[in-house]
Amino acid sequence: MHPRLTELRARLRDVYDLDMTTSLLQWDQTTYMPPGGAEARGRQLSLLGRLAHQSRTHADIGRWLDELRAHEQSLDYDSDDAGLLRVTRRSFERATRVPMELVAEFQNHASATYQAWTEARPAGDFARMAPMLEKTLDLSRRWAECFPGYESIADPLIDAQDFGMKASTVKALFADLRAALLPLVRAIADRPRHETDCLRMAVSESAQQRFAVEVIRRFGYDFERGRLDRTHHPFMTKFSLGDVRITTKYRPDDVSFALFSTLHEAGHALYEQGIAAEYEGTPLAHGTSAGVHESQSRLWENLVGRSQGFWSFYYSRLQAEMPEYRDVPIDTFYRAINSVEPSLIRIEADEVTYNLHVMLRFDFELDLLEGRLAVRDLAEAWRERIRADFGLEVDNDRDGALQDVHWYGGNIGGVFQGYTLGNVMSAQLYQAACRSRPSIPEQMARGEFTQLLEWLREHVHRHGSKFTASEIIERATGGPLKIDPYMRYLWGKYGPLYGVRPPQLAGASR
Ligand code: ZN
Repeated sequence: MHPRLTELRARLRDVYDLDMTTSLLQWDQTTYMPPGGAEARGRQLSLLGRLAHQSRTHADIGRWLDELRAHEQSLDYDSDDAGLLRVTRRSFERATRVPMELVAEFQNHASATYQAWTEARPAGDFARMAPMLEKTLDLSRRWAECFPGYESIADPLIDAQDFGMKASTVKALFADLRAALLPLVRAIADRPRHETDCLRMAVSESAQQRFAVEVIRRFGYDFERGRLDRTHHPFMTKFSLGDVRITTKYRPDDVSFALFSTLHEAGHALYEQGIAAEYEGTPLAHGTSAGVHESQSRLWENLVGRSQGFWSFYYSRLQAEMPEYRDVPIDTFYRAINSVEPSLIRIEADEVTYNLHVMLRFDFELDLLEGRLAVRDLAEAWRERIRADFGLEVDNDRDGALQDVHWYGGNIGGVFQGYTLGNVMSAQLYQAACRSRPSIPEQMARGEFTQLLEWLREHVHRHGSKFTASEIIERATGGPLKIDPYMRYLWGKYGPLYGVRPPQLAGASR
């Protein structure tokens, strides 16, 4: 090994450990910390943030990267060392562009905004948040301006989450997807609703937890390298490749919330637990993009967890754990968990309408950043768009412009497109997995997931950040990202569920 590479690796491990320590403090803050710990915790997080930024941007790293350039060029693109140098160079260049004062200002503003939002949201008080959001917008613009040469001011913000993507590429993909989705949404809207009462029964938390844990163990989530705790807004986090944690929230009157959010977070965790162990302590030891990360969570939550095959095995297990369901026929349950209905809340939206929620947010981010929409008009613009897209009224901004934490705890720009990119990717990856291992659906109907997990490990997980999202998709599926597999999946599933057919087929048999 090149001697400089050894030094670089040791330094990168310090950066990694500072980041992981930050995550540990944040995990504790949202799970077990008593309210009295808040002030000191804020101080500790900001200290760690400063230290991490200093070590990430240390001049030594820049010098070593320069010295290693010739060595890097001599390496095979696919080699781990080449990947390490590529990703380190990219994140070093990104981090050094942003002045320390801006990072600190952002951090302080974000935590103040988040604090205010926790009170303003339940009160539906958008006016209280508007001035803070103005500042968030200003800081987000200033952050983006550290990366001149962009087409849209949103590009650097998008690139930070989904490397290689630009506003224009996302816009084009979303336009196609929206045009393809609307006929399905409208066709379903004309059909009778699915009965969802069976999901509203009171089921004990312990039964909900036992069942969810049984399922994610079978998925392959390793409790020796992870744990499940309660929180307010479910998330996954990790402190090393050997400690990848998930959280959930139990609702006494809705079994589907904890179950599907646990499957979702376990999907994120399977990705992180599957990264090659030798990447530990390096910038390669993370999922490669927001979109690919979300493709993993959505795949396990929806393509697996809401599928007929899955429930043909697991429904009797659920009934054994939750006797409340003894008299509910499997078909009623299956239709309930796959009910499509326009709704106000993104995280509770069904698979079909979910993407419209994401597109709305993505469009508003662009409108705000590019100056077409003023923050003070956001809540009203939101209400209008919900009326146009869903035919619903937002009576309280709590369920409108205040609903997502993202803009109130971070920046505006680049934070939502990954959710829909992930949905689109999940179908393309799943299709490729089943093509290469045709026994996957059959296995799933026996409650076994080893073939699927092995394929994902080999083609997605183990690479960590070594390859970009588009490289992962190309290599794993044999082509670039396309909406077709996703639309085929949605029609293939919801067509029979609602007795609807794609427009070009409707009437063909008349
Ligand atoms: Zn997710």
